[in-house]
Amino acid sequence: MPNYIGPDRIIEKKQRYMIPCLYHFYERPMQIVKGEMQFLYDSEGNKYLDFYSGVSTINCGHCNPAITERVCEQVKTLQHVSSIYLTQPVVDVAERLAEIAPGKLKRSFFVNSGSEANEGAILLAKVYTHDSEVLALRNSLHGRTQLTISLTGLSFWRTEPNPVGGISFVPNPYCYRCPLNLKYPDCDIACAQEVERVIETSTSRNVAAFIVEPIQGNGGIITPPPEYFKEVKRILDKYGILLIADEVQTGFGRTGKMFCMEHFGVSPDIMSVAKALGNGMPIGAFITTDEIAECFTRPGSSTLGGNPVSMAAALATLDYIEENDLPGRAARLGDYLRSRLIELKNKHRIIGDVRGLGLMQGAELVHEDRSPAVKEIDIILEKLKDRGVLLGKVGEFRNVLAFQPPLIIEKEDIDQVIETLNEVLVEME
Ligand code: PMP
Repeated sequence: MPNYIGPDRIIEKKQRYMIPCLYHFYERPMQIVKGEMQFLYDSEGNKYLDFYSGVSTINCGHCNPAITERVCEQVKTLQHVSSIYLTQPVVDVAERLAEIAPGKLKRSFFVNSGSEANEGAILLAKVYTHDSEVLALRNSLHGRTQLTISLTGLSFWRTEPNPVGGISFVPNPYCYRCPLNLKYPDCDIACAQEVERVIETSTSRNVAAFIVEPIQGNGGIITPPPEYFKEVKRILDKYGILLIADEVQTGFGRTGKMFCMEHFGVSPDIMSVAKALGNGMPIGAFITTDEIAECFTRPGSSTLGGNPVSMAAALATLDYIEENDLPGRAARLGDYLRSRLIELKNKHRIIGDVRGLGLMQGAELVHEDRSPAVKEIDIILEKLKDRGVLLGKVGEFRNVLAFQPPLIIEKEDIDQVIETLNEVLVEME
């Protein structure tokens, strides 16, 4: 067995040599040393069922040989050249994205992360519309650059004190805790109407874009009512504002369709993607229509954006997703996971709400008065980890269990997670 330094030494080094904003989960964290499809292994040989897949990144499983072999082959052949030369993998990925992206989205620009993809998407929207303001949703998370932090509505993930100006936040479609104190469906999706109200009352009308996560991930698996985005798009079109869909967490089959916006019957004007496109390799892209792309002609490139290795990962990932119909699998297994989570909700009062689409599900943990069960969630996560199950923790109050496993899991894996969670909840009661 290799000589691992172990969790205590890692924490010591982190504290000494890294910037403290990099935080980790668990009171007794483990050193992860190996990944194999839906499983992770620690330095002591313990095995974990990974139901968070690196925040929606590993859709095809950890170190999936069908992908890693093609990446290794590319690393050995050609790792990087400047984009001033012609290479094939990048145009092949762009062509594939044009085939699968919703509506008229046909033209891509490649970068290295979700933050950069969103930066690029906003820049493109500003160049196209000649407007400068942006709308975002409460509870959103769009990245770690200064602009994308400023577009992030979750204060937990914001680093002040100098947010970029010209950003207005709109109440999010969070039906369990409606920001407008209404109830779906009687509310007539008033939260969508709020978009118009914010444009009229809080902006100078020079709005370039509204950026949204179709399902908010870190925001708490906030899943809008089915008609929400159609109404939002109608309002945006009236004002000539572009819709940017941040599919960084929801893309590539996660929610039961290739892209989550397809559930809502709406095509965004620009879509940003990252994470799952590389199944673990650094990658990001924004994709737009021919018409919008035409305005963006000044030379611009990203040194490693579109590099052959990340592109080889993307091509292998797209092949794997399509050959194994991972969107269909996520839809089927997601329905099963959801039904089992609802069973648990009926048994345990701490589960206040279950929501999501496909294999992006959340369970909001609450006390009897609906106040967030913030302390309990940490205990639950620790006990699950000690029993070999890894889940995520998200939401405005950080009281929502996030279930976002690799899409290659089996039904038995869901049963294991549900039974383990049930055991832990019984023990806590
Ligand atoms: N958008 C969403 C929806 C995200 O969840 C994240 C990261 N969690 C980002 C953007 C930023 O991506 P990255 O960390 O690759 O910059």
